[in-house]
Amino acid sequence: MTKVIERRTHGNGKWHEPGVPHDGWKCVGFVDLGEEQITCEMCDRQSVRYAHTMGHPDHPVTLTCGSKCAGRMEGEPAHAKWRERFSRNAAARRARWDSRHVSAKR
Ligand SMILES: [Zn+2]
Repeated sequence: MTKVIERRTHGNGKWHEPGVPHDGWKCVGFVDLGEEQITCEMCDRQSVRYAHTMGHPDHPVTLTCGSKCAGRMEGEPAHAKWRERFSRNAAARRARWDSRHVSAKR
């Protein structure tokens, strides 16, 4: 048992497929699914709650990806993280607003 099982996302799924660009992607959409609902279309591994829709001029269709792949595809991992943080903060603000709203009515 000397074989090390790597759980990297890089090197799986479409990262391997010829003809699929590895960089130069742009995020064209982002959605919080509320829970992990889909599998990243780029690596076929990461369970995705925050879905980054990625588009590329040399690729016919957009791919819905997790933050790890989206960041790598964009060449800016910080951007993908920032989108998720912003989304979480927005959800927290909504929740606070709802609880204030409800208590004010009572
Ligand atoms: Zn992925």
